[in-house]
Amino acid sequence: MTDKTGTVYLIGAGPGDPGLLTIKAKECIEHADVVVYDYLASPFLLDYAKKDARIIYVGKKGGDHTLSQDKINLLLVDKAKQGLDVARLKGGDPFVFGRGGEEAQMLLSHGVPYEVIPGVTSAIAAPAYAGIPVTHRDHTSFVSFITGHEDPTKKDTSMQWDVFAKSNATLVFLMGVKNLENIVKNLVKHGKPSDTPVALVRWGTTARQQTVTGTLKTIVNRVKEAKLTSPAIIVIGHVVSLRDELSWFDKKPLFGKRIVITRARAQASDLVSKLSKLGALCIEIPTIQIAPPEDTAPLKESIKNIKDYDWLIFTSVNGVKYFFDTFFDMGKDVRALGHLKFACIGPVTKERLKDYGIISDILPETYRAESVIDAFSTVGIKNKKVLLPRAKLARTILPEELTKMGAQVNEVAAYETRLNADGKEELISLLGKNEIDAITFTSSSTVSNFISLLESKDAKELLKGIITASIGPITSDTARSFDIEPDIEAKEYTIQGLVDSLLTYYESKK
Ligand code: SAH
Repeated sequence: MTDKTGTVYLIGAGPGDPGLLTIKAKECIEHADVVVYDYLASPFLLDYAKKDARIIYVGKKGGDHTLSQDKINLLLVDKAKQGLDVARLKGGDPFVFGRGGEEAQMLLSHGVPYEVIPGVTSAIAAPAYAGIPVTHRDHTSFVSFITGHEDPTKKDTSMQWDVFAKSNATLVFLMGVKNLENIVKNLVKHGKPSDTPVALVRWGTTARQQTVTGTLKTIVNRVKEAKLTSPAIIVIGHVVSLRDELSWFDKKPLFGKRIVITRARAQASDLVSKLSKLGALCIEIPTIQIAPPEDTAPLKESIKNIKDYDWLIFTSVNGVKYFFDTFFDMGKDVRALGHLKFACIGPVTKERLKDYGIISDILPETYRAESVIDAFSTVGIKNKKVLLPRAKLARTILPEELTKMGAQVNEVAAYETRLNADGKEELISLLGKNEIDAITFTSSSTVSNFISLLESKDAKELLKGIITASIGPITSDTARSFDIEPDIEAKEYTIQGLVDSLLTYYESKK
């Protein structure tokens, strides 16, 4: 126990889209010693936490509480009394049906300091992402946020059905899906016209967003037909009719497409963020893990003798990263590389190199080994000493061709890729249940590792109806060697190229 009591931050984590977190909330998560979150808070936000922060999931989905509210309270107090700062993440806004008020009162009574960081509430954001403004001067001048959770058989109800029914307010119900029929009945009974427009928006602001619209008369059946369940916002009022004109999020080109990402987690963020921006739901099942090579001696030796080399060639971002990690660990700085010429195989690798203050002398026209060879044929590499730090067991064509051109090539392992089997069960289950639209392969090893994860199951059979997208011809050839013919092959062999090809593919299907 320390003398100092920590602070509890009651943080609005926003409605689901990770981009809707406030800057202040992000800063709090970054500094917290303990992060407590429930099922409505997007797990992406946990990436902001410190490496050694304790992350605690307290559940709370409908009735099935992982931890009761009392236990959550105790937990918050206990951690704060240990002198730890606690980020308590709550879906949407903490003070809008989030029990944030109760948690604040409880903290106060225990003498624990707290701060409240408001969030973007789903009550406004879910309708907004469905193209429904909760107010509009032509339709309504006010809006009510109402709990849809209240027990319908409760006698002393605080629900003023007559007021709701007679006003022209936009009515926004939270936690109301299970009670929808009841809500509709009460409103109609108290005189709300049965042609009043209604929308339900489930998992608003996320790639899983689903919207069902109708009127007070039709909505119950439509929701049943669509099998829509919680969490959803119910919006009732004339503003709902604006959706026809104003919907935008569900019109994104890859909206709702469930796309599996097989590359290593550390490298996936660029692809994930590009696809997410286009509306896709990315399912990350990394098939590869990237790690330093088992034997680092050859790389170290080459760095020790770096003055003997003329060229340094990088074929991947990982090559750059792991080369420089070792280089700096050995106490060197970039002045030791001043005499060298550099070549990179692709634009992203070139950008990564630039992060270290070095501009590549050569960038081939297309992004594969064969092109690098073309590029060197104009530069002249005879009798030059070339260092090629790259993946263990990479393709042999580049060193072979450079050697043929008269270069002395030293190829060293800067890193190695290993099979990552953590997502095996999830992958097999998703494939079996037909819950995937597309799968992306960003290197040959993502393909071969994918096949390993399926064990001896028939990959071709499991991939039926799923679009396979490959980053380039080498990866496609590897896929073909396993009897998988890619539906899509990127024109430019980069992540952006792969994204563009997916877009073109889906647009042509419209
Ligand atoms: N404090 C939260 C609300 C918590 S109550 C907020 O401000 O958003 C839980 C209810 O919020 C759910 O039953 C559902 O009605 C609504 N909700 C939360 N996130 C949602 C989302 N992404 N899409 C639709 N409804 C959501």
